[in-house]
This record gives sequence, C-alpha cells and structure tokens, in this order.
Amino acid sequence: MTSLPATRPEKRLGLAIDLDTCVGCHACATNCKEWNTGGISGPLTDVNAYAAEQHGVWFNRVFTYEVGGEGEAGRTVHFPKNCLHCENPACVTVCPTGASYKRAEDGIVLVDHDKCIGCKLCSWACPYGAREYDEVQGVMKKCTLCVDKIYNQNLPEEDRVPACVAACPSKARHFGDFADPNSTVSKLTAERGGYDPMPEKGYRPTSKYLPPRPGRRGAAPAAAAATNLEGAGRFLKWVDRILTR
Ligand code: SF4
Ligand code: SF4
Repeated sequence: MTSLPATRPEKRLGLAIDLDTCVGCHACATNCKEWNTGGISGPLTDVNAYAAEQHGVWFNRVFTYEVGGEGEAGRTVHFPKNCLHCENPACVTVCPTGASYKRAEDGIVLVDHDKCIGCKLCSWACPYGAREYDEVQGVMKKCTLCVDKIYNQNLPEEDRVPACVAACPSKARHFGDFADPNSTVSKLTAERGGYDPMPEKGYRPTSKYLPPRPGRRGAAPAAAAATNLEGAGRFLKWVDRILTR
C-alpha cells in the first residue's frame, strides 16, 4: 500500500470547471489527448479506432445530459469528467507497488508506469471514474494536470496551463492553486459555490465544479432566489448520481 504526503501540500493545483458555460464541444478532451499522447503518459492508445466498438484512453471525457423534473423546462448540461487530484485519494493508498502517488509539492496525483503492475485496484478505488487502463501497455494512466506542460520553462508563461484549459473556447476551465485564497480558482469557488462531488466519500477533491447559474430562463429574481437553493441541491445530487453510473 502507498502512503500519502505526511503534510498537506503547500500548493494545491487543480481545476475549477464551470458547468454553466461548458458548451460540450469536446475541445478539452481532444487537446488533452493530443498533448498527452505525445507526452510523459503517451501513447494514449485507441483500440478499433474506426470501428463501432472503438475504445481507448482519454484522460478527459465530456458527457451531455438533459436535466429537469416532470413539468419543468429541461436544460442541457455538459459534464466534463477527469481526475480531481483529491486530497485524500484512496486510488493512491490502495496501490500495492507505489506506482500511484501524490506529489508533496503541489498535490498532483500521478502514476509511475514503470512500477504499475496493472492490477486496477486504483480504478476500483476511484469513485469518479477518473482512471484509464491502457490495455495495450497493461498499465494504468490518468490525468496528470499536464505536469509536463505547466512547469515547462521552454513555453511562454501564458501557455503553461493544462491542455484542456488552453483549448476551451468558452473559458469554462480554470487552472490554479486552491491553497492561494486570491487565486482565480479559489475566488470562483467561493463566489459560485464550487462543489465537491460525493463529499461523503471523504476523498476531498482539489478540483471543483461550478454549478450552472440559476434564473437564466427569465424567472423573476425573487422567484429564482426562492427556488435556487432547492434547485442547486437537486442539481448536486444529480451530479453524484451520474458519477455513480
Ligand atoms: Fe484518484 Fe479518482 Fe481522486 Fe483522481 S479523482 S485523485 S483518480 S480518487
Ligand atoms: Fe497501482 Fe497500477 Fe495497480 Fe493502479 S493498476 S493500483 S497504479 S499498480
């Protein structure tokens, strides 16, 4: 079994993903695949890529749902799913070889492919479905938060962000340090009620989801305010439900 860092990392890097502005275009997923297939985790192999039963390794996947109860106007919500770089990740502690680890310096959760024996314990331990088994190489892979890009001194500073963040045309993905209360991600989380999926699991995801803003369908402000709390609560339960599928 593998230990976590003894102290809370000084930096806690992660993403704030805005479910209000995500348009479900999959640019994040494809740019992630593009960067990471040639990077430290690559190749991100595909099997039967051009067949009906194609499958492969994607660190970021975008799902689209129609949300709304009976008699309500429905709303389309796009839900990008990727590793949340949890503070208390059992995907690391269950690993029998030390292949999965959490970095002490910035909290990023990584896999050392040379140590991975492909037992898949980590994917069973992750409640968010964020681990990706590479059937060709026989090792587990996952989002690295583009660790080989965000610290790359050969890139201009403005490009040192994860590939998914760089590609998002609607600026729905924000990258930063959650340990810094003045970072954009911390401020957005505070302002918008950034949400930890399945908080009862105790994994304490670093990355947060920003829920869709209420009242965009022309509801009067007072009516919107009255239904916001209930609506937000129902929405968050819905997020948890889809993650358990
Ligand atoms: Fe591990 Fe899953 Fe949390 Fe990522 S989201 S750190 S894979 S438990
Ligand atoms: Fe560790 Fe690899 Fe097993 Fe996951 S599949 S628990 S990373 S050895």
